[in-house]
Amino acid sequence: MRKIILFTVGILLLAGCTSESDKSYDGNLLAETENTLEQKEAPELPEPEQVDEDGNVIVNNPHAIDVIVNKDRRLPMDFEPKNLVEPNVKNDHSTKKLMRKEAADALEELFAGAEEAGYELYAQSGYRSIDTQRRIYNNNVNTRGQEWADKYSAVPGHSEHHTGLTMDVTIAALAFNLENSFGNTPEGQWVAEHAHEYGFVIRYPEGKSDITGYSYEPWHLRYFGEEMATDIYESGLTVEEYFGLVE
Ligand SMILES: [Zn+2]
Repeated sequence: MRKIILFTVGILLLAGCTSESDKSYDGNLLAETENTLEQKEAPELPEPEQVDEDGNVIVNNPHAIDVIVNKDRRLPMDFEPKNLVEPNVKNDHSTKKLMRKEAADALEELFAGAEEAGYELYAQSGYRSIDTQRRIYNNNVNTRGQEWADKYSAVPGHSEHHTGLTMDVTIAALAFNLENSFGNTPEGQWVAEHAHEYGFVIRYPEGKSDITGYSYEPWHLRYFGEEMATDIYESGLTVEEYFGLVE
């Protein structure tokens, strides 16, 4: 009986020791966790870009202002931009036009700048969800054929409109349509010359479809912020060339 009591006391003492050492181990764990948190706050290299089963790059920075999507690069299918708002500009009233807040603010300034110069622009198409893009693309394939659809519209996930950083603009004289002739109108020429001052570039310039993958779209404005847009504009390069995405 006495032996059993001693044995029990021994176990209890041992248990006490174990729990003491547990405490100090917890302390170490806590310190380690704090270190990890500190490391997380430091700038990190982005995750390597993944490639999907069709050989397309899935971008690793969908929320970045300089995210690049095109025929070979797409957003994650579940991507939704943060802070989508409706820019306070004239529009064609066909659908609700949304953009990321910073792009919407810049678009308001661009439209105000145009108005000061005597030109009236209208917003025609902004953010598109993956479902909207799917509907547009499939409709184009069904009504105009695969070739046309691929020339003028994007496969879901590949549309720049999905980023929330893009707006198509038009004018009343073109009945609010998106026409190549926009580039020859005084409004279109003003946009081509001044969009970068407000942070936008004409994403699909004339004669560059072999690089951008899209025909000339003088109406399609993409936000990069004033500094980057000006740099791209002054370089005379397409976005793909500017970002080194062309072999
Ligand atoms: Zn567009």
